[in-house]
Formats: sequence, C-alpha cells, structure tokens
Amino acid sequence: MSHTRVYNFAAGPSVLPLSVLERAGAELTNYRNSGMSVMEMSHRSKMFMDIFQETKDKLRRLMNIPQDYHILFLQTGASGQFSAIPLNLISRTGKADYAVTGNFSNLACQEAKKYGQISLACDTSSRNHSCIPRQTDLKRDPEAGYFYYCANNTIYGTEWDYIPETGAVPLVCDMSSNILSMPVDVSKFGLIYAGAQKNMAPAGLTVVILKDGLAGCELPLTPLMMNYKIMIEKDSMYNTPPCWCIYMLGLMLDWVAEHGGTEGMEKLKWQRANMLYDLLDSSRLFTCHAEPGSRSGMNVTFRTGDETLDAKFVQQAEEAGLVNLKGHRKTGGMRASIYNAMPLEGVEKLCDFIRAFDKENG
Ligand SMILES: *Cc1c(COP(=O)(O)O)cnc(C)c1O
Repeated sequence: MSHTRVYNFAAGPSVLPLSVLERAGAELTNYRNSGMSVMEMSHRSKMFMDIFQETKDKLRRLMNIPQDYHILFLQTGASGQFSAIPLNLISRTGKADYAVTGNFSNLACQEAKKYGQISLACDTSSRNHSCIPRQTDLKRDPEAGYFYYCANNTIYGTEWDYIPETGAVPLVCDMSSNILSMPVDVSKFGLIYAGAQKNMAPAGLTVVILKDGLAGCELPLTPLMMNYKIMIEKDSMYNTPPCWCIYMLGLMLDWVAEHGGTEGMEKLKWQRANMLYDLLDSSRLFTCHAEPGSRSGMNVTFRTGDETLDAKFVQQAEEAGLVNLKGHRKTGGMRASIYNAMPLEGVEKLCDFIRAFDKENG
C-alpha cells in the first residue's frame, strides 16, 4: 500500500506517520484480543478507560505538564475554545488582552467581545500578518483577566519564537498548529489548547491543558459542554468523549516519544523548515510571506507574485505527488504545512521540485 502514498502538505487535517496508521490498521477490528474495535467500545469500559488514562499520562510526560494542571479531551474543535475561554475566564476581572497576529486569533478576539471588555495587545493586520511583535511592542493591561495569543499562525505562516511575559496575568495560548513541535515550559501558562487535527491526531478532539484554580468562575450562561469546572470534575467524560481520536493521539504520542520527544521534534522541525526557507530566499522566482525572525517552522507560505504561475506550481507539484500546496485564500500563493509527521524526504522532494520550477520559469 505504501507506494500509493503522496507527500501531503495539507494544513489540517494533515499527514499522520505511516507507522501510526499501520498500527491503527492492524488493531482496527480486534484491539488487544478484545474481539472489537476501539470504535465499538464503551467509553466506560476498563479497556477504554486504560487507553484514556495512558494517553493522558503520555501527554503529561512528553510535554512535562506539572501535576497542578488538568488535561481535558474535549470536542467542538479549537474554535469552540474561542467561546469557552472568555465564558470561563473573563469574569476574573471582566477584561482580557488579545494579541491579534492572524486569522484565528482575530476570530477568537471577535468572539470574546461578546462577553467582556477586550483590549488589543497588538494587531498585525496592517502588515497582512507577516510578522510577530516583540515583547516591548505588546500593550498589556495589568488588570486583564488573561492574555490571549496564538503561538503559530497556520494561514499566514508566522510563529512566536518567545513566550510573552505577562506578569501575574494568566497566559492563554492556541497551540493548534505547533503543539508537540518543541519543548514548552507549561508552568508559564494558565491555559494551552489545541485542535488535534494539525499535529496530533484526526479531527474531532481538542486538548485543553488548564492550570488548577483557573476554572470555577464561569459566566452563568456558560453552556454545560463548555464548562471547564464540570469537565474537570467528570474527567472529560460528562458525555461520550471522542474515543477513537483519543486512541489515535495515544499512538501518535508513542511515535513522538520514539523519535526523541519534543526535543527531537524541534530539531526535525527546523531542519525541514530551514531547508525550505534557505532555498526560497535564494530562488529567483519565489518570495516568502513571513518576515525573517517571524517565520513558522510548521507552515511555510510563499508565492511567485504571479497567480497564473502559482496555479501552475500547485498543479505540477500535485502531478509529482506533492499535494495540497495551494495557499489559503487569505494569503494566496502556496503553503507547505510541514508538521511533525512530514518526513524529511517529503521536504527534500519539494525542494527538488522548487529548484526545477525556478530554473524553468525564473
Ligand atoms: C485550524 C486552527 C484552528 C481552528 O480549528 P478547528 O478545530 O477547525 O476549530 C484554530 N486555531 C489554529 C491556530 C488553527 O490552526
């Protein structure tokens, strides 16, 4: 089967390691002699509860999550957290700071305005979100209930290379597209969340890592399914959790551990990304969207400046087995999403293709 696989540069849902898919395939119809698939198991069964607990333990180990943080396995996607975060946290002071550096932080900011007084810590839209502000550029309110930012801008291809310093104000971070791609000091955060479909598992699971003590001041109208306090009390099992995705996350976490953990992932990340940036910077035809110093190690955005030529690039790449390179409609051009599961050979093949295209069309 493996000879039919392509190099998939999709932004999400995105590539998973072949060995993870094969292991899931081998266990698909009969998980550990249970005679059934994980998809068919009661979420309250001993066998699934073991998967659930082991997956939490593996994530805690790999990310070095301190004991006073809860790990929640939720649904409603990363976008659900755009609402859940203000619903649960804004009443701490009625105010929050939002750093808008791309599409998803902007959506989160617009949503939060329904529930409290929101200040912009920064807004990079006038530069088409091609850069990340420095710490000294951030406008912060010491009375904010929390400070919100998105660590990696999936659409524009920028990534924060530092953790903002916010003093006593809890830091809230959307890590949907770069979680597990580097070691992170979780103790600096109040809340980290990520939709699983970029770097962790199939779509349908949202991981929330929440410091103990932050839950419990939700607004009275908070929907039951968005109430962190209830989800903590019920260990994410108020209702049926996304069982299959949690199982897949467990397999993916084993794979990350076998490949050097988050340190190993960080090395591979910049090996892949720098290979592309170096080539694009030295090409005749291509320019990168993101400014040096703000560039993402996960989503590389670039263009020729000629839409017809961009379309030709995407089409010919696809014919060469390099698929899903079309950029988001907001940026145009191309985007190569090179998450943890993208093998180095995939990026090498893409570089060969870029070199040949540059020579032929430049
Ligand atoms: C994809 C993405 C989202 C939205 O995720 P959904 O699970 O589709 O709601 C939010 N934030 C970031 C950074 C993303 O990459």
